[in-house]
Amino acid sequence: MTTAVPPAVGHDAGPERPLRFTVFCGSSRGWDPAYDHAARTMGGLLAAAGVEIVYGGACIGLMGVMADTALTAGGRATGVIPEVLNLPGVVHPGLTRLEVVPDMATRKARLCELADAILVLPGGLGTLEELAEVWSWAQLGLHDKPIALLNTGDYFASLLGFLRCADEAGFLTRADRDLVRVDADPARLMTEVLSSLAPAEVTPTW
Ligand code: AMP
Repeated sequence: MTTAVPPAVGHDAGPERPLRFTVFCGSSRGWDPAYDHAARTMGGLLAAAGVEIVYGGACIGLMGVMADTALTAGGRATGVIPEVLNLPGVVHPGLTRLEVVPDMATRKARLCELADAILVLPGGLGTLEELAEVWSWAQLGLHDKPIALLNTGDYFASLLGFLRCADEAGFLTRADRDLVRVDADPARLMTEVLSSLAPAEVTPTW
């Protein structure tokens, strides 16, 4: 269930431009219904907070679950899809806006560019690659957008374990590890991200 939240504002977002969160998540749904539930909860929270979703634009997998929930709740969802994936049965038919770009590289750059913050939900290789890219770009100082990882059922435990090893082995600093917020609770993660964007203006009530 989604708790009502006040409209979110932050950065240059305002009445003319809603806050936008780019979401990376699976093109599959996973076996455990907890993943579906997490995507639905996140979609509902984003819509309730007045945050526009920017994502891969698909109707399949956790992407579809999240977008369906947000759109049904009156939220906005923009898809950014490369020509090669712009296919019936893949592209969500109810998107608020669709951007078709020439290739995957353009698409990933655009997904990052449009975001005020980046949320990552459970997914597979595509999600991992997207997370690694925005995380390494933050490490290089190419952007300073908040990145948040929804660790449903500790799904990302082994990835986080690897990053701990990388830190201990001297390949990653603790500060760079801490560039990404990690929480298993969607509402708490959203609260943290919204607070980091506009601490004075956003007081979530859930
Ligand atoms: P995966 O985690 O491998 O299922 O890949 C999901 C991620 O890659 C999403 O965040 C999308 O941005 C992108 N992606 C993968 N497959 C598709 C697809 N068929 N349509 C749109 N985006 C996709």
